Amino acid sequence: MSRDAAAGAALAIGIDLGGTSLRLAAYRGLEAAAGAAAAAAGPGGAPPVALTPVAHHREPVGEPRDPDTMVARIADHVARLVDAARAAGDADDDAVVPVGLGIAAMLRDHRGTVANSPHLRWRDVDLGARLAARLGPRHPLAIHNDVNAITYGEYGLGAAVGARDVLAVYVGTGIGAGLIVDGRLAEGASHCAGELGHVKVAWDAGAAPCACGGRGCVEAYVGGSYLLRRIRGELAGGAPSLARDLAGAAPVTVAHVDDAAGRGDRWALELWQELAPLLAIALGNALALLNPARLVLGGGVLSRTPVLVELTLAALEIAAPAAALEPLTIAPAALGDDAGLVGAALLATRDARPG
Ligand SMILES: [Zn+2]
Repeated sequence: MSRDAAAGAALAIGIDLGGTSLRLAAYRGLEAAAGAAAAAAGPGGAPPVALTPVAHHREPVGEPRDPDTMVARIADHVARLVDAARAAGDADDDAVVPVGLGIAAMLRDHRGTVANSPHLRWRDVDLGARLAARLGPRHPLAIHNDVNAITYGEYGLGAAVGARDVLAVYVGTGIGAGLIVDGRLAEGASHCAGELGHVKVAWDAGAAPCACGGRGCVEAYVGGSYLLRRIRGELAGGAPSLARDLAGAAPVTVAHVDDAAGRGDRWALELWQELAPLLAIALGNALALLNPARLVLGGGVLSRTPVLVELTLAALEIAAPAAALEPLTIAPAALGDDAGLVGAALLATRDARPG
């Protein structure tokens, strides 16, 4: 097999260490697939590539979650995945298998030092050094923030294929964003680039307090945890809305509110009409600054609220400069829960390449 062919079929492992789940997947030929997708993409992008892992594993983060235990668990699962891939003929015994890990944390440096992870209750943990020592030289390691890994997955094989400049915005429990600038992940001077959730959209006395300690952050209005608290509070307070009937005995979700808004429910529509411009201001300012070719929208709130997305995009026509909108295509995130695994594996593969 030629060197290029061997590289094309190479194995890489992606890991997603989130607040609730630890997931791992071994992919074969990831970089070759990403190269082929980029070559085939037109100006509007390319269909996402459905890439099946050759081996995968998922388990709850659970307890204990101290760094020593977590590093040992991850290293054991990596060894098992590689063994499974070898048994299936998907990797040579002496193959170098890059390992990429996306973590829900604020990182301090390129070596995978975790400054702070509220989910794992970690502060100043040298995760990269510990895990690299356990994995050994056959597993070059790359550690990135989870939103950056997700963004890179969409860039390599999902909704942003074919674009060199990408802004990916995820509105879920919180709001996060990832940036690709001229084909490279842009992480900023202190690895905090993409903190779009804490862009201020209000600064009067009534501006909503945010968990970051600030006030008026867009996340404190549109982020899922704030949004749900407000929705359930207003409905419990007697706001008349179809959303309550749509939910039945279940707790009301953003999807019920969106459904109600789509049916013309006045309370739901007024809420969405209040929030859509706030999200559009944050997006529009980011577009003005970055001039991306592709805006990817995803996350647990935006994937369930087509009416809110539609209203946001309409407001974006006003909130963003025409020059930033002109080259832009907007696409929903395409890889779902697998984006972070794919992105981490792809980042590790590219980081590990000599030169
Ligand atoms: Zn904030």
